Amino acid sequence: MITLKGIPAAPGVAIGNALFFDSEELSLPRRAITEQEISLELLRLEEAMIKTRHQIIQIQKRVSTELGRDSAEILNAHLLVLEDQALREEIINGLKQQLVNVEVVFNEIMRRHLKVFARTEDEYLRERVADIDDVRKRVLRNLLGKRTDAALQFEQPVVVIARDLSPSETAQMHKRHVLAFVTDVGGRTSHTAIMAKSLEIPAVVGLEAATRRIQKGDVVIVDGSRGEVIVDPDPPTVQRYELEQRRYQEANRQLLQLKDLPAETLDRHPVTLSANIELPDEVPSVIAHGAAGIGLFRTEFLYLNRNDFPTEEEQYEAYASTVERLAPHPVIIRTMDLGGDKFFSPLQMPAEMNPFMGWRAIRFSLARPDVFRMQLRAILRASTKGNLKLMYPMISGVEELKRANEILHEVEQELSREGTPFNADIEVGAMIEVPSAALTCDLLAQDVDFFSIGTNDLIQYSLAVDRVNEKIAYLYEPTHPAILRLIKQIIDVGHAAGIWVGMCGEMAGEPALSLLLLGMGLDEFSTSPVQLPLVKQVIRSVEYSFAKSVVDGALKLRTGKEVEAFLQAHLKQVVPALVE
Ligand code: PEP
Ligand code: MG
Repeated sequence: MITLKGIPAAPGVAIGNALFFDSEELSLPRRAITEQEISLELLRLEEAMIKTRHQIIQIQKRVSTELGRDSAEILNAHLLVLEDQALREEIINGLKQQLVNVEVVFNEIMRRHLKVFARTEDEYLRERVADIDDVRKRVLRNLLGKRTDAALQFEQPVVVIARDLSPSETAQMHKRHVLAFVTDVGGRTSHTAIMAKSLEIPAVVGLEAATRRIQKGDVVIVDGSRGEVIVDPDPPTVQRYELEQRRYQEANRQLLQLKDLPAETLDRHPVTLSANIELPDEVPSVIAHGAAGIGLFRTEFLYLNRNDFPTEEEQYEAYASTVERLAPHPVIIRTMDLGGDKFFSPLQMPAEMNPFMGWRAIRFSLARPDVFRMQLRAILRASTKGNLKLMYPMISGVEELKRANEILHEVEQELSREGTPFNADIEVGAMIEVPSAALTCDLLAQDVDFFSIGTNDLIQYSLAVDRVNEKIAYLYEPTHPAILRLIKQIIDVGHAAGIWVGMCGEMAGEPALSLLLLGMGLDEFSTSPVQLPLVKQVIRSVEYSFAKSVVDGALKLRTGKEVEAFLQAHLKQVVPALVE
């Protein structure tokens, strides 16, 4: 039995068998062949292609029943690649010339084509790059005998072990199949971790060597609340954790009883508790946890796991149904925040050295006004269905905000001309998640109706700590005095300008930190649905003046660790059950 320590990413306890998921680029064996072996290699390729074709047709059938015929037809391009005669001839020539195994020849030829397609002026061909690359990987997997499509649809529930998982891979996981997941890399506010919390799948990330220290089939216990993974536990340990699991579920049930009670302090100071969602499917969980609306709808998940942009209609459906289901509560839709650790197709968003500081979020939207306008049209049209507000991610200064508002205004005029209804008084906000925005929020306040503090990014940019890098996770401190000062300044300046201030970073969902944020006068707390009852319990257990005194005390301290200990001690005074 060994215990591995990592970063707690999503709470809860799971016990199950380990299964490895490998999303990394395949490493190809290279071996010399004789001329006589060429036909054998070709036969292997032919078999792999037939298998791939069969798999794609199966996926097509599934997509067709789940999403309709049009979506399934996208996969026709994949099938065409497999039928290409010219490609086969090229491979035969390659085999003859190089005399190496077919994986190597096939891979080189496909990569050469991909490069040419990616650079062509022809838009249709450029759009096919991701399809062709998908076929390349599938054929190679079949040649190498690796697990292929539906990799995330496991037959029995398992604990997924991976070096890394992308947010889009995580989004495809399902509670029915995945008991928990464990990764070598990643930080607590990576979008993979956030997604796990939304799906209510316990997760531990940043373990560094989990893929080396765990074997396929090992029994593992994942404690997502403490960030621990126990490999090959003895029977008493399993029993202890089974008890822990029941205790966790029971505590959650108890907390849910607060669901319909108001989010206010003992002396009736009210706050708004809203939820963050990634997908419209999460609405039932938002309602079940008693949120007073959605404070952050991360729309970029509509753009992932696909090769084309979602249409206006598709987006409208997603936004309108969410807004309708939550009415009369507000739903804050954030315009797309692609980039960072959430990539669209590699062609639309090329790889960058520093993706979090690169072509991301509002920068991408302003550079692609066609895509941005389409999203704004869908959002505005959905605004008639209930209480919809919109906000822009990653605003770094006034110019960017003004330009975004100009485009919004143009889209509004266009809709008016067409006679398409929308709410002309929609509230518009800016996320404050870049230090330059935090320091100039008095200037930004003039052009918006509210601020929403994005601490996941604000912390990484202010402390220069990559939020997905486990090696420096110890430096990622929400309690760092610099962060406390910035947040207080944003709230004070927003209030002085007459606008309300919310927070949708993970920090808003941490019980000890919510005590501090309450005292700072934060108006709205938005976090993963599962965290909401915890925050409500803290708020309902204190006097507002007590929370304010906590702020005064915390601001006098000099290190993040001191602040953390100070907050935990005060939380223990008011809600001892929340402190271990
Ligand atoms: C944030 O940065 O705090 C935030 C809420 O946005 P995201 O996590 O999607 O970057
Ligand atoms: Mg952000």
